[in-house]
Amino acid sequence: MKTPVFRKSPRTPRLRSHAGWLRLPPFANTADLLVYVHLSHALCRIDVEFPMLYQWILLQNGSLPLKPDQQFTSEPHVCSATLVWPVDTAPAETNSLVVDPCFSTSGLTFAVRQLSALGASLEDIGFFFETHGHGDHVLNIRPRSSAASSHWSTRQWRRWTVSAQQDLDATRGIQPISCPGHADDLQALRFATREGETWIVGDAILDLQWLRLWQYYWPNMYGRDDVLQTWRTVAEILAHANVVIPGHGPPFAVDAALLEELVGGFTHAEHHEHCADVVDRLRHRLAALRR
Ligand SMILES: [Zn+2]
Repeated sequence: MKTPVFRKSPRTPRLRSHAGWLRLPPFANTADLLVYVHLSHALCRIDVEFPMLYQWILLQNGSLPLKPDQQFTSEPHVCSATLVWPVDTAPAETNSLVVDPCFSTSGLTFAVRQLSALGASLEDIGFFFETHGHGDHVLNIRPRSSAASSHWSTRQWRRWTVSAQQDLDATRGIQPISCPGHADDLQALRFATREGETWIVGDAILDLQWLRLWQYYWPNMYGRDDVLQTWRTVAEILAHANVVIPGHGPPFAVDAALLEELVGGFTHAEHHEHCADVVDRLRHRLAALRR
């Protein structure tokens, strides 16, 4: 039989956790101990994975003229651009990053207005991050636009990388997650907010409408493996996220109703018969949300 780890020091029992050794307080009964262990374990896991809380705003509202029914609308083809920075702080050079900074002229005007409402400006942003290398997501800004001040330039924004994440305490809680399918190099960003776990996913999910219909961006001529990878990436995102900021549409919550709908409609997903693991993960998350 294994020796309980706290037997060596009965007065100040300790527990091995993700974060090292925890000193346990005295307990009235075993039930208290179990609750404490459970809570400590959960808290440590959260602390390790998400050492900081963040907030975000959209600097550009993403939209896509092509609809899943193959109709085109007059909406512009622009990505969602999101500013992320720690809660209880103001966006600054050392703590803020804009994700997918591919701005249209009107998008930039909107960005300036959004920042101004925070008492900030484009000059205050420190970093940028591109979810993938497609032309509608990479750094593109028109410094001569009347929206940007004449002396401002994107040279002030540094590319945010994993090493920047390690070097900068303010961004240590932002995790890049590989999300291939739509593009091999696609990386989502995952971080904690007051609303729960938030994922900025680029085109791993185009928008809620495309997701609900299990459609992918077919004009890119994806092969079977890409499509299967796309669904597996969707499952990875929906297995964790509470809030998703998709590549070309408004943010949405991941709740039981959405997961039920996706599980029910999964047979409409192309090649669904080759990736039953996807629907299994969604069912698993659905069960967790109902608990
Ligand atoms: Zn895109």
